Amino acid sequence: MAAIGAVGFGVEEASATEGLLEPRLTLKTPQDGRRTVALTLDACPGGFDTKIISALVEWQVPATIFMTGAWIHSNPTGLAAILSHPDLFAIGNHGAHHVPAVLGGGSLFGLRVAGDMAAIRDEVGRGEEAILAATGSKPVWYRGATALYSPSAVPAIESMGFSIAGYSLNADMGASLPSESVAYRMRQAKDGDVIIAHTNQPNRPSGAGVIAGVRALLDQDVRFVRLDALTQSVASV
Ligand SMILES: [Zn+2]
Repeated sequence: MAAIGAVGFGVEEASATEGLLEPRLTLKTPQDGRRTVALTLDACPGGFDTKIISALVEWQVPATIFMTGAWIHSNPTGLAAILSHPDLFAIGNHGAHHVPAVLGGGSLFGLRVAGDMAAIRDEVGRGEEAILAATGSKPVWYRGATALYSPSAVPAIESMGFSIAGYSLNADMGASLPSESVAYRMRQAKDGDVIIAHTNQPNRPSGAGVIAGVRALLDQDVRFVRLDALTQSVASV
């Protein structure tokens, strides 16, 4: 396995959505003629899409899985399945209870926002504790529920030792898209894209689209990397 070396990451200027930040994350790739992408899968509260994980294992495709404490608590079988492949799956922090890192009041996509900085720190810290208890390792990437942030929440989360896991290609729009749309979006992945999809909605059609999209990218000789490989030399897959 040849080392590809110069993979890093870049956080591009975030776009503001109604005063909120939606950080965009892309990879700095080796520019060696192969496209390199990172697949990130969110495990918000919900179930476990065994089919996605099984396909990734069968095809030896690495991914970074962002788990909530709530998901860890209610999916012991899914957790064990993921943790049995530490060579493939890195674990990121998706918060304790899937509370958006947003100040003020109201809801985003049906989720009541944290409201104040103490609640944001609690969400991040308790999510970290859940992952540490489950895996024995401290996660280094944080992705808040909805992936939207109040501007002042970003440095606060970073001060807790996390890098904010943005993305650049939204494959499934919260597992809301039909499988054909998800696969189509993934097939369009550019070199350096960080893809976001979900693995907590086994009864929705989006999951089949994730599998088809991964297969299509593999057939195009696209290389997959995990986010935790970005700051060091990584082996090609
Ligand atoms: Zn989520």
